[in-house]
Amino acid sequence: MSEKKATILVVDDETINLQIINNALANEYEILAAKSGEQAVRIATQSLPDLILLDIVLPDLSGHDVCRVLKENEITSHIPIIFVTAQSKPEDELKGLELGAADYFRKPFILPLLRVRVRNQIDLIHKTRALEEMVWLDGLTGISNRRHFDQRYQDACKYAQRNCRSICVLLLDIDFFKQYNDVYGHAKGDIVLKQVAQELELGAARPLDLVARYGGEEFVILLTDATAREGALVAEKVRERIENLAIPHSQSPTHKVVTISVGVTTSTPNGANFDADALLETADKCLYQAKDAGRNTVVSTDFRPQA
Ligand code: GH3
Ligand code: MG
Ligand code: MG
Repeated sequence: MSEKKATILVVDDETINLQIINNALANEYEILAAKSGEQAVRIATQSLPDLILLDIVLPDLSGHDVCRVLKENEITSHIPIIFVTAQSKPEDELKGLELGAADYFRKPFILPLLRVRVRNQIDLIHKTRALEEMVWLDGLTGISNRRHFDQRYQDACKYAQRNCRSICVLLLDIDFFKQYNDVYGHAKGDIVLKQVAQELELGAARPLDLVARYGGEEFVILLTDATAREGALVAEKVRERIENLAIPHSQSPTHKVVTISVGVTTSTPNGANFDADALLETADKCLYQAKDAGRNTVVSTDFRPQA
């Protein structure tokens, strides 16, 4: 992020204001512009800017509405918003901040002040991301850790439940890994864990896919908005990718290379009774069936929540 310019979406219905802000910030940042609330939501969702400068009075949705929509969407909720507005009553300011805005800036523009407020937010974003990397990433493999998965999984379940969208979980476990460590040593085992993690990330690479180390030699992949068929395809793809790495494993009785077993389950929550833990347990059962079936295998099932 440090070498890439941060992207700022500027939302204002007046061309002159867009120009003024663009002139003030374009040297340091990549600027996107929107002239209506609808356009702002669309661009924010598609381009995921680092920061949004948002006018309150717009021709369609109000800036407050735009803020609400973006904060309610899992994809855009983390993007800081600075309201930039001529409305300067304290209650407007309070409303904006209560909706989750990071800051509030009054027109007419005092450009040096605007630049400093923007830079402060961007600095904060950089620091937050550095901290998040430390908190959310697994030290050995560099992919997301269990804590990150748990948090994203809860969010994804809520999103799926609210919007009746499907959610798919893959649990993956390296086959005969204890024997691998016994024969080749723990250090070589660590290298295998890193190789497997990288391969899984390549196999589940859509922006909202999450690959995490679930613990030990177990991994998990969360696919948001994926059908059972898509989940099974990703599982089969990553199973094959790991086999094709052709990492020698003399003690693997069947394949003589490192392989994984995968349990996959998919659900479309359509009521209040959706049980996120039960979905994971179902994936775990599938994983054990895959082990029983000889390993290097994918087992999938649909998860049917209790009515
Ligand atoms: P199965 O095919 O049934 O999955 O057998 P397995 O041997 O893979 O499973 P088991 O649960 O018996 O052993 C898991 C092994 O994973 C044992 C443990 O030493 C190893 N392991 C867990 N975390 C790490 C790690 O961070 N590095 C290394 N090198 N090995 C690890
Ligand atoms: Mg295991
Ligand atoms: Mg194992």
